[in-house]
Amino acid sequence: MGEEVAMAWYQKDRAETERLLESSSKGLSKKEAAKRLCEYGPNALVEAEKKSALRIFLEQFADLMVLILIVAALVSAFTGDVESMLVIVSVLVLNAVLGTIQHVKAEKSLESLKALSSPRAKVIRGGVKMEIDSAQLVPGDMVSYEAGDMVVADGRILENFSLQVNESSLTGESANVDKSDAVIKEELALADRINMVYSGSLVTYGRANVMVTATGMETEIGKIAGLMNDTKEKKTPLQATLDDFSGKLAAAIMVISILVFGLCMWRGMALMNSLLFAVALAVAAIPEALSSIVTIVQAMGTQKMAKEQAIIKNLAAVESLGCVSVICSDKTGTLTQNKMTVQEIYVGDRICRDRELDVSKQLHRYLLYAAVLANDSAIVDGEGIGDPTEYSLLSMYRNIQGLDLDGDKLALSDHLLRSMAARLEEIPFDSDRKLMSSKHLIHGRQTVFTKGAVDVLLDRCVFIRLEDGIYPMTEEIRGKILAQNEAFSAQGLRVLAFAYKESEEKLSRENERDFIFLGLISQMDPPREESMEAVARAKAAGIRTVMITGDHKVTATAIARAIGIFAEEDEARTGQELDALSDAELDMEIERISVYARVSPENKIRIVDAWQRKGKIVSMTGDGVNDAPALKKADIGVAMGITGTEVSKDAASMILADDNFATIIKAVANGRTVYNNIRNAVLYLLSGNLSAIIAVLYTSLLALPIPFAAVQLLFINLVTDSLPALAIGMEPSDPDVLRRKPRDPKQGILTRDFVRLLIGQGGLIAVCVIAAYWLGLTGSSAENAAAASTMAFATLTLARLLHGFNCRSRHSLLQIGFAGNWYSLGAFVLGFTLVLMVLFLAPVMRLFSVVALSQNQYLEILGLALLPTLLIQLVKLIRDRRE
Ligand code: ATP
Repeated sequence: MGEEVAMAWYQKDRAETERLLESSSKGLSKKEAAKRLCEYGPNALVEAEKKSALRIFLEQFADLMVLILIVAALVSAFTGDVESMLVIVSVLVLNAVLGTIQHVKAEKSLESLKALSSPRAKVIRGGVKMEIDSAQLVPGDMVSYEAGDMVVADGRILENFSLQVNESSLTGESANVDKSDAVIKEELALADRINMVYSGSLVTYGRANVMVTATGMETEIGKIAGLMNDTKEKKTPLQATLDDFSGKLAAAIMVISILVFGLCMWRGMALMNSLLFAVALAVAAIPEALSSIVTIVQAMGTQKMAKEQAIIKNLAAVESLGCVSVICSDKTGTLTQNKMTVQEIYVGDRICRDRELDVSKQLHRYLLYAAVLANDSAIVDGEGIGDPTEYSLLSMYRNIQGLDLDGDKLALSDHLLRSMAARLEEIPFDSDRKLMSSKHLIHGRQTVFTKGAVDVLLDRCVFIRLEDGIYPMTEEIRGKILAQNEAFSAQGLRVLAFAYKESEEKLSRENERDFIFLGLISQMDPPREESMEAVARAKAAGIRTVMITGDHKVTATAIARAIGIFAEEDEARTGQELDALSDAELDMEIERISVYARVSPENKIRIVDAWQRKGKIVSMTGDGVNDAPALKKADIGVAMGITGTEVSKDAASMILADDNFATIIKAVANGRTVYNNIRNAVLYLLSGNLSAIIAVLYTSLLALPIPFAAVQLLFINLVTDSLPALAIGMEPSDPDVLRRKPRDPKQGILTRDFVRLLIGQGGLIAVCVIAAYWLGLTGSSAENAAAASTMAFATLTLARLLHGFNCRSRHSLLQIGFAGNWYSLGAFVLGFTLVLMVLFLAPVMRLFSVVALSQNQYLEILGLALLPTLLIQLVKLIRDRRE
């Protein structure tokens, strides 16, 4: 492959492309592909250089407060207090280590999030078609694209079947481009090189086989990626509000620290000591861990969701998930199993089962031809490949295939039938048109077979074939067919109509008409077992479920009723009926409509819009190429992992790995839990910091000795902040999380109730700390500042560590138990051990300016530290009982 490529790929013909890329229509061998992967690297856009752990560590010190603290510690070291400097520096280093670990962990989780949703590509390697992660693509790979795929590498089209591509991400041009496989001689701009596809485009129609010419940063999008490579993770709304709040809080704490500094100086404390104390207070009180805790809790939440089959593509979605109040869900495959089995068949004006079809009758034979030939599926080793609607028809045919019908065995296997009546032309199925047609040579005549939605296809039939010949389609016959369709649909069956015509005309959407009607085949697609329960759970959680389907209204309503989506007073609308409604009319009706049938992708956008006008947070599922705009418009766009197109996955914010509706409800529960956990962690951090500030302000204003030495404040910051807060963030889902109404998305975390709780709990701890302080100060005959400080310090750290248990949940510990969250117990045990070391190990005691106390005083500390938790638990217990 070393040869220079003087002309661009679009100017080369197929043979030359294959020669230069040393590949063929069979693709590369696996070995060669592996070799090239080493040579060219993975097919991914390289992101801006990552920060090293060292740099992140150093950045932890690039905080004004920390710098002042270091300077102050150095200065005090010169004035003789070397020990205290060492302690301060080591605590700061430990803090920075903790901060670095948090940062790296948060980044790792974000990365694994990205890896989960990377697109797949269908390649031919060694002559075998396989699906691989698009990052594994190398130049020379043969890739097949079809409607709904994302183009994942630049390539030259070698075989084109009406491929249409949207290249707007590259060229800005929003119209679809018709592609070709012919050589282009002249020099053309990118947008006009119609025999090439470029990474980042979307396949909107048709299919093609493409040889990869460039991957990764060598692709056209890779070349401009440097310009648009915005690697900065966008902050989620919650992060943004909390960051904003932390900023304001930090400013307020600085003001308080300056005030405290002034008071210390005024009371005659040495300049450096005053500074040290004031700055340590600021460091301890500013909740710097807030932002990374939010990221980590959200990221851990998404990992849990991924295990439960819901892949979240960005953190912001976790927040919106918790507020979802309307879920618009597809029917087929999401609420139902997408396991179709053929039921009754209506042909020749009578109803029969598949085994009653008689191939000696031309009518029956043609119906079977249509079912097998206008059909892209296959059954390999008993496994259906392709669309279940289609392979159920194939398996129906196989049921008959082996049968001895009146001694006249149906000899043609479906393989043989398909090879004898080879396909000449086709128009694939799309959910807008709801038809699929293909043309074959039958008895030497070009014959078009079409199958599709009854209402659509029947309108295009001008004749009907009965057992004894062809008759014009009359209103009476039409009425009969429609009545039969209704009867099947009322049983929740999916109905397909079949028709044919002989025609030499080139097949096009325009001439998909003038057909001869053959019959109807009904199929059953049972609801998923979990759907009913999931819909009921959603309802209990204040979430409305709406069914949106391409299927028939009566079928959809029957299934919706069985699953519990459709209540008696509800209504069902078709896409057409929806089109007839004005926005104002739709707004009046929307709350009553729980089933939308025969919808087009545009209808979906209108439905999302209407619900959003009502202030609802809407989740919308989709799988097709055309669903992308609706998925983007919805607050939570949900794509199907198994049956969904790459385009829909790209547009969605969540992917259901199992295509299952019930997974959405689990994800909502997780979203709510993540939010509650973050709120609880914030409550823990802020209430604890508040108690320290109150205690310091109190003593400063009363001109009493300072309650905490600077090193003690840093210790409090290290031991009682991040770890317990993170542990609270890991709290498992509360069983009643889905029994409450969705949270109002406009309401931030800092609601009035939250602030009340914060002040109440922080105040309670502060009162106990101040009480301990007084007991220490007046415990002996002389005023004992050291004992006061030790007691205040011990009470504050222990009370805060215990408070970690309170903040886990709104329920009492009796209800949630200690074993529910081992992280929380672990954080407590670790913190408690460290506090004991500071209080009782002589050398450590000295470092932290802690003195030995009397037995009674230790008991007083224990009592006062336990008091806030006992009171808070009591309140929770009473509330639990009442609920
Ligand atoms: P949902 O939107 O809930 O997934 P759906 O799968 O029924 O519903 P579509 O796939 O858009 O929606 O199908 C719409 C209609 O088109 C079906 O009711 C059926 O009549 C017809 N149809 C479905 N699949 C095919 C197919 N492969 N060939 C021809 N017609 C089809």
